[in-house]
Amino acid sequence: MSTIQPVRGTHDLIGENQRRHSHVVSAARRISALYGFGEWSTPIFEDTRVFSRSLGDTSDVVSKEMYSFSDRDGESITLRPEGTAAICRALVTNGLTQSLPQKVFYAGPMFRYERPQKGRYRQFHQIGVELMGAAEPQADAEVIALGYQILQDLGVAEHVTLELNTLGDAASREAWREALIAYFSRYKDQLSEDSRVRLEKNPLRILDSKDRSDRALVADAPQMAEFLTPEASTFWDDLRRTLDNFGISYRVNTSIVRGLDYYNHTTFEFVTDKLGSQGTVMAGGRYDGLVKQMGGPAVPSVGLAAGVERLSMLLDTAPESARPVIIVPVGSPAEGTVFKVLQSLRQQGVYVEMGYRGSLRKRMERAGKQNAAYVLFLGEDEVERGVCRIKHMESGQESEVTLDSVLSDAATFFLSGEKAAI
Ligand code: ATP
Ligand code: MG
Repeated sequence: MSTIQPVRGTHDLIGENQRRHSHVVSAARRISALYGFGEWSTPIFEDTRVFSRSLGDTSDVVSKEMYSFSDRDGESITLRPEGTAAICRALVTNGLTQSLPQKVFYAGPMFRYERPQKGRYRQFHQIGVELMGAAEPQADAEVIALGYQILQDLGVAEHVTLELNTLGDAASREAWREALIAYFSRYKDQLSEDSRVRLEKNPLRILDSKDRSDRALVADAPQMAEFLTPEASTFWDDLRRTLDNFGISYRVNTSIVRGLDYYNHTTFEFVTDKLGSQGTVMAGGRYDGLVKQMGGPAVPSVGLAAGVERLSMLLDTAPESARPVIIVPVGSPAEGTVFKVLQSLRQQGVYVEMGYRGSLRKRMERAGKQNAAYVLFLGEDEVERGVCRIKHMESGQESEVTLDSVLSDAATFFLSGEKAAI
């Protein structure tokens, strides 16, 4: 029978890939906790309206990337393509809009029907944070600082640049929108077919186009900065000053409009040149209107999300797997003692494996393959005398120690020479 392949654009995480992945997620979770963000988990599928209402009909995600289907009673369900809309839905449906601010961390799979390539999958994973109920630009700066610290912690910050932009407030945006319509209408025949549709529905989206002839026109399009209201302009200045105070450098890039409709004021991307055209590793912005669209009150909010696969690819080296202590019985030592030692070490939090089978040489080979930190030999005579032999694999040194001294505080005992097994 032919084997069944994984669905196009999905991948298994095994061995080194899984270790990279877990390392990224746990670093993000740990750093987020330092900023006071606690974890939420929401379902991986939602009522389709959670996304169609919020991301915008003309966004790539809604117009062509969503995994939507009718479930058995005919309701339209969508596998979540992103986290923010779902977190806002959860804020409202859990009655938390009166307990603000809420600072949320999330991690998990997302689904988009895209053309699979390096760094772009149909099931991928994101980590993200949302700071809901904070209207001041300092909140935007905190979220950016948090994102930057995650990149630093992963050792990838020097490969990444922060690009920053403002989309202004509603009034700024309306004025800009009209200027864009006037401008692009003059060059309508040079626009791509997609962008001609965008011109009718949502001209801002043209700025996000990847089409070459669109890009040429975009270069000379009217800039948001010319249309900022005084309030929006102050917000933008305050944000940049706060980032300076955090010691975070950035490049203003007026073409960062982001693919989703819900952003206002701040938008930003952390980009790298190390991943070809999939160069955005982390991105986010302010979304003051989204919670209202979910049926809640106005809750000014800001957040970011990062692609775990892209960050994993950026890691210089894969995190090592933990190194075990391996127990090797020699001859036929009292079974009772062997299992007591095994059990006791594990209960003290030490990673232990038992080398049951094969010649001594075979078992030592296997210990080498498993990258053992220590091998603990238990021979008949030794067990009777209440001792064992321990080999420190890195140095090759072997010594005889009492079982009591090993078992009384095993965690410390095995941590001493080596970052083993804990
Ligand atoms: P892109 O411009 O690369 O399509 P996007 O603007 O659609 O990205 P967001 O919706 O902002 O991306 O998602 C945040 C992050 O999630 C991206 O910066 C990227 O790291 C990651 N990401 C998005 N789509 C995918 C995908 N299909 N496969 C892997 N990672 C992805
Ligand atoms: Mg995309």
